[in-house]
Amino acid sequence: METRKYPALILNKQKLYENTKQMVEWCEASGIQVAGVVKGFDAIKEGCEAEARGGVKMMASSRVEHLEYIKKMGLHDIDGVDMPTLLIRMPMMCEIEDTIDFADYSLNSEIVTLDALNLAAERKGKVHNVILMTDLGDLREGWINTDELVAAAVHVEHDLGNLHLAGIGTNLGCVGSVIPNKDKMEELVHNAELVESAIGRKLEIISGGATSSLAPLFDGVMPDRVNMLRIGEAIPQGCNASACIETGIKELEQLHGDAFILAAQIVELNVKPTYPIGEIGTDAFGRKKEYIDRGNRLRAILAVGLADYGDTCDIIPQLEGATIWGASSDHTILDIEDVPAQIRDNLKVGDIVNFELRYGAMLHLAHNDKTVHQVHIERI
Ligand SMILES: *Cc1c(COP(=O)(O)O)cnc(C)c1O
Repeated sequence: METRKYPALILNKQKLYENTKQMVEWCEASGIQVAGVVKGFDAIKEGCEAEARGGVKMMASSRVEHLEYIKKMGLHDIDGVDMPTLLIRMPMMCEIEDTIDFADYSLNSEIVTLDALNLAAERKGKVHNVILMTDLGDLREGWINTDELVAAAVHVEHDLGNLHLAGIGTNLGCVGSVIPNKDKMEELVHNAELVESAIGRKLEIISGGATSSLAPLFDGVMPDRVNMLRIGEAIPQGCNASACIETGIKELEQLHGDAFILAAQIVELNVKPTYPIGEIGTDAFGRKKEYIDRGNRLRAILAVGLADYGDTCDIIPQLEGATIWGASSDHTILDIEDVPAQIRDNLKVGDIVNFELRYGAMLHLAHNDKTVHQVHIERI
């Protein structure tokens, strides 16, 4: 018998594949290619494979190491073509060489970086594809001034022989919380067309943003010329994605919310008071907390904590009736008094409780190879 180690991050490959396939169908119905953004689950091999089989046309990450890993894995798209890779954080000066080696495309917003990429590509006898970012007000990356955007594009087109200007892109809803709507998408296309008239040819790619840009797609107001979205959160998170829960993109309710789950083991099970006994100060993180006296209740301590998943808001127990009472770096305490009696009365130390995850918890768990002992893969 296989002895599993806990806590564990468990990927259900079939569910991730089905989420990807549905996302690709929705996007392709509007002529949009999906770049699958795999940074949120640390580019776990089987996760990348599931997205590739689900039909994404590019693999994208903010970390060039992920792209290196994907290239070395030899991933193919469903047409059997080598999966193109896209670096979605502007290349650092210290990773210019790696960007040329492992990214087929990169998003860019600095002339000095473009110049460095061109030199490195020239030395390696390669042509590297770039997508220039236009900042439409979210105030993260990109040229906010369109004259400067056009000038940068003209510079790439005329002066940088080892770069190919593949397109224009934008990012919204990440830092400035600006909602991608019809106006913003039309502004993106307008900026792309300014570039096109300056360089005298059409661009292949207009990249309309991330998961949040699914809103104009589902609202039916996405301009025809937007032909790529870079989708991270919505594919692994599905109905647990913030775009579904907070932003109300209802279509995502059709996707699995449990492609990735956390499994944790019970190490103590007993009845205790709900109000601490003694003088109340602060918790392990220096926080003052409010406690409500609900009398004595049955609880379970799980051997997993904030060091593993980050924040209790981001984990959702799959055990009916269970709520999270508290957590420290390595412990999570579940109130299980209201779990249906036929389940509750059979629980014992050593049993496993599963949690659905929101993005932050998946991110922490996937990147945390110290405390998450194993990634179990449920195969397709
Ligand atoms: C992270 C990221 C994405 C994917 O964002 P999601 O909200 O997870 O879909 C897309 N583009 C860029 C530039 C990013 O940094």
